[in-house]
Amino acid sequence: MLDSGDIRPGQNRTTTVERGSFSIARCSCGWSGPARRARAIARDDAAVHATARHPPSDTSDSSDSSD
Ligand SMILES: [Zn+2]
Repeated sequence: MLDSGDIRPGQNRTTTVERGSFSIARCSCGWSGPARRARAIARDDAAVHATARHPPSDTSDSSDSSD
């Protein structure tokens, strides 16, 4: 089911876990989203998080000030 061994760092570090009839987006950084009834929505939460917190253009700008 999984394409083994082709996970690039910084690509998709998010996943969804299912709790009962709910799906929750989770990220390898420790973030987790709210429980959703639809996995698609949980995946969207993950996508929003990944875009906001882990932008695909991983340019080490070394301007890491706040947060
Ligand atoms: Zn994250």
